[in-house]
Amino acid sequence: MLRNFTLPGSAHFYNAGGKSLVQCTVDLIGKIFRMQSINCLVMILVDTHCHLYLPEFDHDRAAMLDRAKRKGVARFFLPNIDSTVVDQMLAMESALPGACFPMMGLHPCSVKENYQAELQVIEDWLAKRKFAAIGEIGLDFYWDKTFTESQYEAFNRQMEWGLQYNLPVVIHSREAMRECVDTVKPFAARGLKGIFHCFGDSVELANEITAIGFYLGIGGVITYKKSGVAEMVKDVPLEYIVLETDAPYLSPVPFRGKRNESSYITYVAEAIAAAKQVTVEEVAAITTSNALKIFGQV
Ligand SMILES: [Zn+2]
Repeated sequence: MLRNFTLPGSAHFYNAGGKSLVQCTVDLIGKIFRMQSINCLVMILVDTHCHLYLPEFDHDRAAMLDRAKRKGVARFFLPNIDSTVVDQMLAMESALPGACFPMMGLHPCSVKENYQAELQVIEDWLAKRKFAAIGEIGLDFYWDKTFTESQYEAFNRQMEWGLQYNLPVVIHSREAMRECVDTVKPFAARGLKGIFHCFGDSVELANEITAIGFYLGIGGVITYKKSGVAEMVKDVPLEYIVLETDAPYLSPVPFRGKRNESSYITYVAEAIAAAKQVTVEEVAAITTSNALKIFGQV
């Protein structure tokens, strides 16, 4: 969808890394879409959390990325899960440098008997090259509580690496939000930054998270009426929100239950705009600026 990009409010308000948002937008379009001349600008969106390297996209990955590009999705941040997907993730970065940015981390659901060996793989990769973030990491008590202690150990060690390498962390939490926030707080006090991905908890927890300088990743769940996410988002400043799909999971309405993909992020942006009574362009501008600030990519 091509449309005029209108900057809401005063330009100096939305500023990423010293550059105005307009400049960032133009830079992004130039870099990602390699346009020589810009006659009309697209709304720029960033998918801060998508697993586009998974086999669900093997049959139509190029077409899927093209659909996302047409909707203005300029950057895709790819969270790692465990050692089994690293090669596919890095292959996407090689195919689309400047658009796909891999993270490195061990997902809490992959913390099993072999978690020490898995953490060693993560540590080796971090020492070897640059990643956009440490992720996704965290606590998940929904499926299995057998490895609770190991999940805490893996989470803490990986947040140490976030500080060591000066990288943000991308946090997965399920049935464990209180525990996650409490575990993150001492690291935040030492300067750690990051995103609570797929945030769907209370306004009170949202306020605790933003108070320690962390951001909230909002995805398709906002379109599920019973989730309460739209109501929560009303009371959270846009300056602390980033957009994500978590593709191929958690498709927004009207695709709920089907495979998710990055082009559907517009449904998330529109739901946030509706909840907050602002324009979708404003949601795009501010959340994109936030994403650029977190990941340090301009
Ligand atoms: Zn994820």
